[in-house]
Amino acid sequence: MTHIVHTKSELQQHLKDNNSIALVPTMGALHEGHLSLVKLAQQKAKTVVVSIFVNPKQFAPHEDFGSYPRQETRDIELLTHIGADIIYLPQASEIYSSNTSNPTEVGHLGTILEGAVRPHFFAGVAWVVYTLFQHVKPQVAIFGEKDFQQLAIIHAMVRDMQLPTTIIGAPIIREQDGLAMSSRNIYLSDRQRTIAPALYRILGDMKYQLEHDMGIQSCLSQGRDQLLQAGFDSIDYVSLCDSSSLTPLSDPNAHARLLVAARLGAVRLIDNISVW
Ligand code: AMP
Repeated sequence: MTHIVHTKSELQQHLKDNNSIALVPTMGALHEGHLSLVKLAQQKAKTVVVSIFVNPKQFAPHEDFGSYPRQETRDIELLTHIGADIIYLPQASEIYSSNTSNPTEVGHLGTILEGAVRPHFFAGVAWVVYTLFQHVKPQVAIFGEKDFQQLAIIHAMVRDMQLPTTIIGAPIIREQDGLAMSSRNIYLSDRQRTIAPALYRILGDMKYQLEHDMGIQSCLSQGRDQLLQAGFDSIDYVSLCDSSSLTPLSDPNAHARLLVAARLGAVRLIDNISVW
């Protein structure tokens, strides 16, 4: 049976004396990518809590907080069907009432890549995730590799704040043509939607070239050119990084991750792939 709760106190009544809880934080508008996280959570703990909260603190004033897709009824149906135990739908006042200042510190990791383009984003993410952890007290929390930098920041937060939650990264779920599923893909026009799968195709080509001894710098600049040729309007970054510190790599490394953010009109797409 799936319980729908809106407040921390209702939530904690349901979770009393429970020490096998997995949390899947989301912003709703659920798709197969989110559901794969829930399925993984079901393998990791007896009770699965899925939170749906469109976090105002991770949107800049010019971003799409007001128009971010909200499909609560459909989300509840999907989560009930898949057998999530608790759906937590807090109001912003529930999340931000006890913390008037951000108790987390994302540091350098929050200023690079996505953080360079969206300066307040990761501070907002860390704040809400920390607060959800305080409310749910999960043994395990699942995050998608789709948002690879977010996953690295949550890993670092848990380590630095010594939080008693194990973080698990889940693989990226894609459309048949390779486009990583995202709640924001609905913003793509038909023309943009035909260009979008080139992002993953070019990432795959770059991975192949790097693994077959192409130099890192020439591969990154060729990848940028290919994205523009494929029809992307601009590129925020194409970067080969260490997968924990996200420091740029100049030599092959077993923990490398290739990360990209590119724009089609007003829509930003992000994707990433492991290399070596
Ligand atoms: P969001 O609702 O976009 O904040 O995402 C909630 C969680 O789902 C995050 O941990 C995301 O990384 C994850 N997620 C989003 N899209 C995908 C995807 N295509 N595959 C796997 N996980 C995803």
